[in-house]
Formats: sequence, C-alpha cells, structure tokens
Amino acid sequence: MSVALQVIDPEGALPAALVERLDASATRSASNGRPDETLLAELDQTGLLGIAVPSAYGGAGGDATLTNHVVAQVARVNPSAAIMLFQHYAVSARIAEWGDAAQQARLLPALAKGDLLAASGWSEPGAGAAKKRLNTSAVRLPDGRWRLNGAKSFTTSAGVAGLYLILARTSDSVAEPSGGYGSAGQTFFLVPAGIEGVRPDQSLDLIGMRGSATGFVSLHDCVVGDEDRLGPVGEATRLIAGVRRTGATLGAVSLGIASALLDLAVEQVHRRSQPPDAVTRFRLVDLATRIEATRAVIDRSGRRDAADPGLATLHSKLFASETAEQVGVEVARLLGSAGYVVTNGINRLMADARAVAHMGPTNDLCRELVSATWLG
Ligand SMILES: Cc1cc2nc3c(=O)[nH]c(=O)nc-3n(C[C@H](O)[C@H](O)[C@H](O)COP(=O)(O)OP(=O)(O)OC[C@H]3O[C@@H](n4cnc5c(N)ncnc54)[C@H](O)[C@@H]3O)c2cc1C
Repeated sequence: MSVALQVIDPEGALPAALVERLDASATRSASNGRPDETLLAELDQTGLLGIAVPSAYGGAGGDATLTNHVVAQVARVNPSAAIMLFQHYAVSARIAEWGDAAQQARLLPALAKGDLLAASGWSEPGAGAAKKRLNTSAVRLPDGRWRLNGAKSFTTSAGVAGLYLILARTSDSVAEPSGGYGSAGQTFFLVPAGIEGVRPDQSLDLIGMRGSATGFVSLHDCVVGDEDRLGPVGEATRLIAGVRRTGATLGAVSLGIASALLDLAVEQVHRRSQPPDAVTRFRLVDLATRIEATRAVIDRSGRRDAADPGLATLHSKLFASETAEQVGVEVARLLGSAGYVVTNGINRLMADARAVAHMGPTNDLCRELVSATWLG
C-alpha cells in the first residue's frame, strides 16, 4: 500500500511513515527477490533522491557527510534501497563534478527530482574487481557519436534506472602493469535506459540485497552522442580515483545494517521474561561500542578532514563492512535458535551485510589501494 510521504529533512531522522514503508518493502523483497517500484516512486516525493545534486539544479547540495547519514539511516531499515540510493548519489556527484554545463543542465534537475534514477555499470564478467580487462567497448563513429557493445553484470537498479553510467574501453591499450582501479583507455558514458540496444535483465538471484534490482545490463550496438560521454576520452581512471576522495562510503550501508542487527538483539532481550544477565548486557554494550566506533570512522570519511581523505574512505568501508559481518555473528549467538528460523530478520540482514565486502572497490581491492598509497 502506498502512503503519502512528505519532503523530509535529510539531516534529521527519517519520518515514521517512510520507515514503515521501507521496512515492509524490505520484508517483501527478501521473499520475492523483486525491487519495489512503488517505494521508488514514493522516494521521489521525499526529496531524498536530490541530496547529492547542487542546489543550483534543485538538489540539497549535500556533501558526503549528508549522503552517508541518509544512506546509513535507510540501510538500517532497507539495505537494498540504501545501495540504490548510494549508486544514484554517486552518479549525481560524478555529473556535478565532471559533467559539462549542458550535461548538468540536462540531467541534474531530473536526478534531483527523482524523475531519473541513476545506476552504475562498471562490473562485467572477467573484468576483475579492479576492472582492468573490460570487454565492453565504445567505438567512435565517423559522425562523432559512439557505438557501445558489451555486457555489464551486478548493476544495481538494473531495469529500474533511467540512466546508466557505463565504463567502457575506448582504446585497445593494455592494462596498466601497476595496481590501481580501472586502466588507461577507459571512458565513462551516460547511457539513457530508453535508447535502442539497452537491455536490462533482473534474473540474477542474489542471497541478499534482494530488493536492489542488482542484475545485468547488456548493450547491443547502442549509439550515444559525444554529449553523453562523461569526462575525458580514455581517462576514466581520473574519475574513479576521485570517487574515494569525496568521502562517500559504502561503509554507511554497513553501519545501517550493523545498527539494525543490534536493534534485533535488544528487541529479543527485552522480550525475554527475565531481565538480561550481566554477560548479555556486556555483550550488547560491546556491540554498541563497535557500532559507535564505526559511526566515527564514517563521519571522518564524510568530513574529509583526515590527512588523506581517500585513505579514510577506504578504511571506513573496510572497517564498517567487517564490523557489520562480525556484529551479525555475535547477534546470531545471542538470538539462539530463534534466529535460525528463515523468517527471522537476522538472516536477511546477515546476507545483506556480506554484499558490501563484494561491492566495488571490494575489500581486498581496498586493501590493495591503501597499501599502494601508504606503504608504496
Ligand atoms: C549486491 C551487489 C551490488 C553490486 N552493485 C554494483 C553496481 O551497481 N555496479 C557495478 O559496476 N558493480 C556492482 N557490483 C559488483 C561489484 O562491484 C563486483 O562484484 C566487484 O567489482 C568484484 O568483481 P568480481 O566479483 O568480478 O571480482 P573478482 O576479480 O572475481 O574478485 C574475486 C576476489 O579477488 C579479489 N581481487 C580481485 N582483483 C583484485 C585486485 N586487483 N586487488 C585485490 N583483490 C582483488 C576480490 O576482492 C575478490 O575478493 C555489485 C555487487 C554486489 C554483490
């Protein structure tokens, strides 16, 4: 059932009506594996989709502190919706940062209003976590346009997004021998979902993030204009390197999940007829302490006041995602056999928690990027 949601204050707590909708939708998607398109339409009315868009284009002009805060709050109730928002914010921010004036005027108002949901198609089978070996190609046509062919996998919001930020190979230069993310000769394109040759496919059956429409997007002789190219030709690595310096972190998703796991444990303890013994209380306090530490790391990432903000973002993703998984194991122990029932929310949350480590940059790639910067 749809409820009217008002425009909300992104810095405050989420309104109860929205929390209820996100919660019901998370439960439904966990069982049917489908995204909730009504929820997405309702999110449009909240103003939440526009927080990463500059105010000149109708958004809230929010920085990473704000987007991390909103993503964590949404993830506490509905991690799938949180990763869809995260990708939408990421693409909005890339356009705000790298788009030319015409691209910004054409796309940012629609992204702010939620008329257009954005997604990122970087991953593909065989490309590797660092996206060095892309098969998706973009070939320049004599009239200056580009023809794209390829198959993207694990694209969040596949089939519900109106715009895909596609990473493609525009030259055959070999991958950089060193580490890093992406490689020379790669370029980003802003591909509208509605043009000929774009084929999304939601058949990917995930164990978690089941409402996120994470699926495939294939491109068949898909022709876009040069005005759909984002950033310089062959220099996608510059855009990719800049992403982590913004402070926006998938760790915020993990923070929300860890908080939801702790909520479950506290709820269960309160339902027991006996007050909790000291061991249980101390375990809960230890979990709450870890979550507080995670919040501090995420906040530091968003504030970008570390000596190297890019490193702080990578540390935040590593720390938060591992914390959420560990909190899940501890909460499972606290819940006992009640938590081993399929319908217990802990199982959905633990599956959602696992996803974050696999999302780009994967945790091992984060380690690789940190060590390359820090240890040389
Ligand atoms: C729920 C979910 C949502 C997702 N959403 C999106 C999305 O919206 N857009 C998108 O583009 N992708 C998305 N992804 C895909 C995600 O970014 C990829 O799973 C990721 O890039 C890893 O790709 P892979 O599994 O092919 O890596 P593989 O290369 O097969 O990695 C296997 C293992 O090796 C490690 N590894 C590989 N290469 C390196 C390296 N160079 N340094 C260190 N370790 C390495 C990896 O960390 C991993 O542990 C999503 C994934 C999930 C699970």
